[in-house]
Amino acid sequence: MSELHDECGVFGIFKNDSDVDIVEETYLALYALQHRGQIGAGIAVNHNGQIQYHKDFGMIPEALPEEELSRLGSGEMAVGHVKYSADNNVEPASLAPLVMRYIYGQLALCMNGALTNYSTLRKALSKSAAIFQSNGDTEVVAYLVARARLHTATIEEAVREAVGELQGAYAAVLMSPGKLIGVRDPKGIRPLCYGKIGNSYVLASESCVFDSLGGEFIRDVAPGEMIVFDADGVHTYTVSKDEHTACCMFEYVYFSRPDSVVDGVSVNTARQRAGELLAKQHPVEADIVCGVPDCGIESAIGYASASGIPYATGLIKNKYIGRAFNNRKKNSEYLMRIKLNALKNNVNGKRVIVIDDSILKGDTAKHIVELLRQAGAAQVHMRIASPPFIYPCYLNSDTTGKDDLIAAKMSVDEICRYIGADSLGFLSAESLKEIARESKFGFCSACFTGKYPIDLPEKTREDDKYSHKIEP
Ligand code: SF4
Repeated sequence: MSELHDECGVFGIFKNDSDVDIVEETYLALYALQHRGQIGAGIAVNHNGQIQYHKDFGMIPEALPEEELSRLGSGEMAVGHVKYSADNNVEPASLAPLVMRYIYGQLALCMNGALTNYSTLRKALSKSAAIFQSNGDTEVVAYLVARARLHTATIEEAVREAVGELQGAYAAVLMSPGKLIGVRDPKGIRPLCYGKIGNSYVLASESCVFDSLGGEFIRDVAPGEMIVFDADGVHTYTVSKDEHTACCMFEYVYFSRPDSVVDGVSVNTARQRAGELLAKQHPVEADIVCGVPDCGIESAIGYASASGIPYATGLIKNKYIGRAFNNRKKNSEYLMRIKLNALKNNVNGKRVIVIDDSILKGDTAKHIVELLRQAGAAQVHMRIASPPFIYPCYLNSDTTGKDDLIAAKMSVDEICRYIGADSLGFLSAESLKEIARESKFGFCSACFTGKYPIDLPEKTREDDKYSHKIEP
């Protein structure tokens, strides 16, 4: 139950079957991606170059009500987005898809990731009279594409030129009047894959979408690849190249759904392996192993099978909590109690090993140990299916500062005392490659190692985020 949050989900569909309802498919796909973002959602539909869209705050049913979906009508292409932000005061203009009019009609853009040179790009665009409505990276990318399109012959060339200016992590889906385009950053930090529903082409952040829609996963979009769907079929281009790929290790630890396969690695398998390795690295005598829902469950199953200690459900998560609830002005302990409860029948009197995906601030881990003790656990041994999270991630839009990261301030023993566990053990950093060993790409594990795959600007993103507001 990581305190780090998901970082948006993107989707796009290019219709090749008369009986495919692209609004319905996009709506269902966003449901499959809901775990990547709950603060808002949107769908844009392209009908003969005219784009209709709706986006709003909340989880899917709240953000995309039936009457708005009916208003979108039908078309040849659609894109969709689910958004996460740690900031509940997100302005409406930052929701996606971002729909804009440019010299050749309308564009809709959805993005997952964060640009490390966002501030530089934005200032440069502002000085050429660009007017921004949001604080989001997506708008910067849209401007770059629109500006490049002034002198390029095709939208593909404009996207190639625009991404040449970007630094950071991104997986973007763009809809022009006649084309659906997906593009992934040169290091492949953020995931993107494509497949088919019938004969219609689909782009998505995660492969679980294809299973949910009864479609077919074809492959991951390669790092630096642009893939284009139009009336002539599928076209692929390498638009940026980097020998050192760095797919986000946290996709396996937490971001992605366990039924997704990211860059050839089953997320479920990666998490189980992490649990097996944890059992070897941090064995302890206990009566049961339980996982913190959702992402600790598979690792707990792996720990149980490697250790021979029975797996049992120890914690129950309330899955029906939306943004409106999170906005209530109650204290955080109250919120955590409603979100998570211990199963007394299973833990009372037992020595419990509890597995979670990660520890960021430490408050959730402390709360979980307290819950288990209040439910009668005789001992609580916490095991974490990733190494200590010491360094902030500047490649997500939701960055937790170093001052907030408990592992940046305390040793493992100190964290153990702080959270009140009987023992605490983290997966070793050396094990990370092992859990995703089938991937042919390199990994980013900078939040554990401090080795960032991208040169960070002198000022961090956190410092930069609102700097444009005080520019003269
Ligand atoms: S720093 Fe961590 S969360 Fe950020 S991209 Fe790298 S592995 Fe993922």
